[in-house]
Amino acid sequence: MPDRLVIRARTLVPMAGEAPARGEQLFAPLRKLDDAALVLVDGRVEEAVSWKRCSPPPGAEVRDLGEVCLAPAVINAHCHLQLSHLAGKTRWGEGFSAWLESLIPLLREPFSAGGIAEACEDMAARGTGHVGDFAGEALPLVDAAARRAGLGITHFCEWFGMDAPFIDAVRPWPPRCRAALEPGERPVADVSVPLEARCAPAGHALYSTAPEVLRDARQWCAAKGRVFALHLAESPEETELLLTGSGPLAELYQGIVLPEDWRAPGMRPLALAVKFGLVGAGTLAVHGVQLDAQEMTVLAASGAALCLCPRSNRNLGVGAAPFSAAVENNVLCCLGTDGLTSNTDLDVRREAVFLRETCDVPPEALLRLLTVNGAEALRLPCSGRLEPGQSGSFCVLPEALSF
Ligand SMILES: [Zn+2]
Repeated sequence: MPDRLVIRARTLVPMAGEAPARGEQLFAPLRKLDDAALVLVDGRVEEAVSWKRCSPPPGAEVRDLGEVCLAPAVINAHCHLQLSHLAGKTRWGEGFSAWLESLIPLLREPFSAGGIAEACEDMAARGTGHVGDFAGEALPLVDAAARRAGLGITHFCEWFGMDAPFIDAVRPWPPRCRAALEPGERPVADVSVPLEARCAPAGHALYSTAPEVLRDARQWCAAKGRVFALHLAESPEETELLLTGSGPLAELYQGIVLPEDWRAPGMRPLALAVKFGLVGAGTLAVHGVQLDAQEMTVLAASGAALCLCPRSNRNLGVGAAPFSAAVENNVLCCLGTDGLTSNTDLDVRREAVFLRETCDVPPEALLRLLTVNGAEALRLPCSGRLEPGQSGSFCVLPEALSF
């Protein structure tokens, strides 16, 4: 990118001054500029104004993007980049357990550095500025690929398994991420880059990660001001397993992930997460498809955020992403694609288009989910707005989301 650049477009929605929004606030009008100019100096916003008022810096290159509507680069709050090589290989449309059964044997396949790099480049090319990614063994590969693509990334280092190793302030990282993160265990690598600052320990889910580990990881994140993420209330099978200890997920996991002496807690997912102390400000719950209205009020009151993954939910057949219930009950929502094992691409704008087409959600609400709300959910205070001094990363909005 040249040092001094002026982008011209039919319309620009800069989101300047916009705060994260809940409930009715999501639908408030957004300020837009017609025949707009976005002036960038060294990749940062100098000004966002109408073309007539623009005074380009000396020597600036002008790029006219024509009849498009621009917005800040969007935020994909939930992804699994390291599983990119498994695109198209899992079973869809038959429910969560059928999908998981098809995924488990595939997890033995080696990661693909090329596949991860391609996925990151594709996201950046489609206007994603930052991604919240569930990380495992491929953490260093994913981090390097995201940075090469110019993509901001938060790594949620995922604990998985019902054994409960001691985790503390010094060793909060799941074993599969430790080699990249802990002093003394780091392979020869670029130690000047604070990878650890982009990471937070996370839980896979209530039915697959030990309660003690979930609690300790959440407490570590709260103490460090980082986001604690976990999959929550995704499928009917999850609810059935936690309530009764039976059903297809129980059959799949019993004796493999769940120890023989595991007993169902007899609680719905949200109540159990609350009991474990996992729900509060700084928590990012992913999916929430099975949450009822009363549970949404509990989630909202706690200050936790909810990442909706509408196309993933549709593809697996677990139910519809609960946009209306979450908004009616004032939950802070954002959007994620989930990984390529449950989606056709990682373009989070298409989650918004899906909600536009299936639930008639207006572009104002969708753009807020994609920008300021995603930034709030991932605690990225400098993302989601094209304001002077901030990053000049922008995206072209699809026609269905245009202003
Ligand atoms: Zn996921």
